[in-house]
Amino acid sequence: TVRVRIAPSPTGNLHIGTARTAVFNWLFARHHGGKFILRIEDTDLERSRPEYTENIKSGLIWLGLNWDEGPFFQTQRLDLYRQAIQTLLDRGLAYRSYTTPEELDRMREEQIARKQAPRYDNRDRNLTEEQRAEFEAQGRKPVIRFKIEDDREIIWNDLIRGKVVWKGRDLGGDMVIARAAEKEGEVFGQPLYNLAVVVDDIDMQITHVIRGEDHIANTPKQILLYEALGATVPEFAHTPLILNQEGRKLSKRDGVTSIDDFKKMGFLPEAMANYMTLLGWTPPDATQEIFTLSEAAEQFSLERVNKAGAKFDWNKLDWLNSQYLHKMPAEKLVDLLIPYWQEAGYQFDPESDRAWLEQLTALIAGSLTRLADAPKESRLLFGESVKYSDEAISQLQLTGVAEVIKAVLEAIQPNLSEANAKEIVDRVTKAQNVKKGLVMKSLRAALMGELQGPDLIQSWLLLNQKGWDKSRLQQALS
Ligand code: GLU
Repeated sequence: TVRVRIAPSPTGNLHIGTARTAVFNWLFARHHGGKFILRIEDTDLERSRPEYTENIKSGLIWLGLNWDEGPFFQTQRLDLYRQAIQTLLDRGLAYRSYTTPEELDRMREEQIARKQAPRYDNRDRNLTEEQRAEFEAQGRKPVIRFKIEDDREIIWNDLIRGKVVWKGRDLGGDMVIARAAEKEGEVFGQPLYNLAVVVDDIDMQITHVIRGEDHIANTPKQILLYEALGATVPEFAHTPLILNQEGRKLSKRDGVTSIDDFKKMGFLPEAMANYMTLLGWTPPDATQEIFTLSEAAEQFSLERVNKAGAKFDWNKLDWLNSQYLHKMPAEKLVDLLIPYWQEAGYQFDPESDRAWLEQLTALIAGSLTRLADAPKESRLLFGESVKYSDEAISQLQLTGVAEVIKAVLEAIQPNLSEANAKEIVDRVTKAQNVKKGLVMKSLRAALMGELQGPDLIQSWLLLNQKGWDKSRLQQALS
């Protein structure tokens, strides 16, 4: 059975690139009836934080990417890595390397001076017992290096990129798989990234490693480790990077990069998940754009993931978000808008005003692209009084307008219905002997303070429930 994983490092909030990789892994697992595993790669103790782990978990849940196993934490699995390192030492596939960081720097400088690519020259590979004893006597603490033969060819059939070939000599020399010991009595210290990933993927019986293209240079090293540990090599698929408008890798400089940022801007999880699904994957019916994750899972295949980088398209994300927003029932949407109104400082009571807020939601829903648009789209409907724009003031100063407003004010009653409101407009139009357009425009100016905005009659009914239609018409006359 298919087993895939997402292996984020908790050194920051859930990043859009990680989330998109999670989407592809999730879709692949669900398509094949397999398992999706969450593994937290928290071995970088300096930069890892529990709150980032929480953010990653809650972000995945928010997007609907439920995992079947885990989360597993690498810091709780160190013994497993140590055992693997010992196995490699015992088999003569790894060795203690005593070259100091200063010596490595010098080696690199000399190579660059000779116009060679910098690499470790494997100088400690065949130390004699005496040499080793001397280094130990000098107090040098060895790292553990894994042997990489220069003339090895490493080939895999990448499920997205096709055949990939690497030469052993391009991998930078024998690679460090464990840091030097820090504690007395230890043979070696902290196991390093490539080793830990491979040991975990073997232990978790991962069948397909689907991850970002930025990891492609790790893959040949990892394949060699699988072989050295006598394990079956999984399939690999390297997903294209997410690019900004300039075609460069989407980064912190582009402003929003974490899923939290998108959430705060008012994107719905369904829209975000849908958008990320299409960020690099083309469905069999390329015209279909709206998918739930489960619908996408039915059709998902790695063959239809593009090799080229995927440009992040705000317009498309906005469009998808508005599609989901407009479909959502007002009684559900209102709960998502309340925090935005609260943050904007609008005065209301989420409980006693709920029915009113729900009607307000229904009124403005069609004009929302993001949840965060709600305060702007509804600002004219909050408050006893209103601020008049220059255009509204000009409208209110036209001849006959004051009489129209006065007549409406006299006709207003509590609990106006839509029919009542329309009837008042018709009655005042006749009585004042003016055009209906003038009445509507003047009423809008007086009630809302601006000449543009949501549907006038519906807005009036909302204001009427609060008694704010009266107060505002009085304000317009004063
Ligand atoms: N921990 C790695 C990262 O955060 C992922 C490793 C992998 O997927 O193999 O990018």
